[in-house]
Amino acid sequence: MAVETKDLKVELLSLGARVPGVDKGRKAGAGPAAGGMFLFGNTVANVPTQSWFVSHSPYSVDAENGRYVIKRNGERIAEVRFPRAKFQELMTKDGMPYNKIALLHGADCLATTTIQNCVYWNTPKRCKFCAIELSLKSGATIARKKPEQLAEVAIAAKKLDHVTHVTLTTGTTPTPDKGINYLAETARAIKEATGLPIHAQFEPPKELSMIDVLYDSVDTVGIHVESFDREVLKEVALCKVEIPFQHYVDAWKRSVDIFGDSQVSSYVIAGLGESDESIIEGSELLAELGVYPFIVPLRPIPGSLLENEKPPSPDRMCRIYEAVAGILHGGGISWRKNKAGCVRCRACSALPDFE
Ligand code: SF4
Repeated sequence: MAVETKDLKVELLSLGARVPGVDKGRKAGAGPAAGGMFLFGNTVANVPTQSWFVSHSPYSVDAENGRYVIKRNGERIAEVRFPRAKFQELMTKDGMPYNKIALLHGADCLATTTIQNCVYWNTPKRCKFCAIELSLKSGATIARKKPEQLAEVAIAAKKLDHVTHVTLTTGTTPTPDKGINYLAETARAIKEATGLPIHAQFEPPKELSMIDVLYDSVDTVGIHVESFDREVLKEVALCKVEIPFQHYVDAWKRSVDIFGDSQVSSYVIAGLGESDESIIEGSELLAELGVYPFIVPLRPIPGSLLENEKPPSPDRMCRIYEAVAGILHGGGISWRKNKAGCVRCRACSALPDFE
């Protein structure tokens, strides 16, 4: 059965895959964790492998003569490869495993959470889909990655694994800059050591001029609205709904002025209870501003407050992706123009594959 790569990616992102005998990927952390990186066709996907619904997925991965194959209900669909990162086996001189400092994401992106604590974690304002402090609790990572540690890991990742860009995210700090100053400090160290293009993700700071500090060290930024539906946000991300939507718009505008079209992005999560129109109209607004709507299906990470939810259906995701890809095309926004980070990596969203 011939299956288009983009359709297979949508199915895998929503339904997950059973991977007996294969490393299931990181269990928690910021962003869509609890997945494995699948390389197939000409794309990469961060596929759920640990959530409850995976046991109902028609997809599984089997080993065949030293290779891996994706099967649907036992029928062979495509060959798949799992990226292996040599740098993740190393240790710093003071004995810190590199894989507690940063990881390979997608095919060629080095990713880390610079500050693994979030000011909202132990409060009712915590984002219910997030798992940022779970990986800290499990000992899989450390609370604060030092700039010199990240520089050391980035040099090795570039040399040994041909990493070509970097994603830095952060838990929100209890300071007005929301973690931006530390992102700038770590980005500077990585940039000086490797010259790699760098992406930084943060909540809109109180004073938007605080974003400017990233100008010389960072190439792209992510400011994540998560949902355009304020009622949905009230339910799942109280910290986000407290920030007026206009403040997001102003933060995106200021960032596009600094970093350029297609270099600013926002995660948009489908499956939180919003309508298709909310996502499509919101994405239209983003595209008009020059911002890339990085639309992902909800990832119910085990241990997060939404762990028992189900991701949206592949059919729904296809409808949304088709509509938004058309909007991006009309607005001249494309993942291909993006220099670093999630949009360039594209493992968590199939929107780039629909463009
Ligand atoms: S899209 Fe972003 S969060 Fe997802 S794997 Fe790539 S770098 Fe990581």
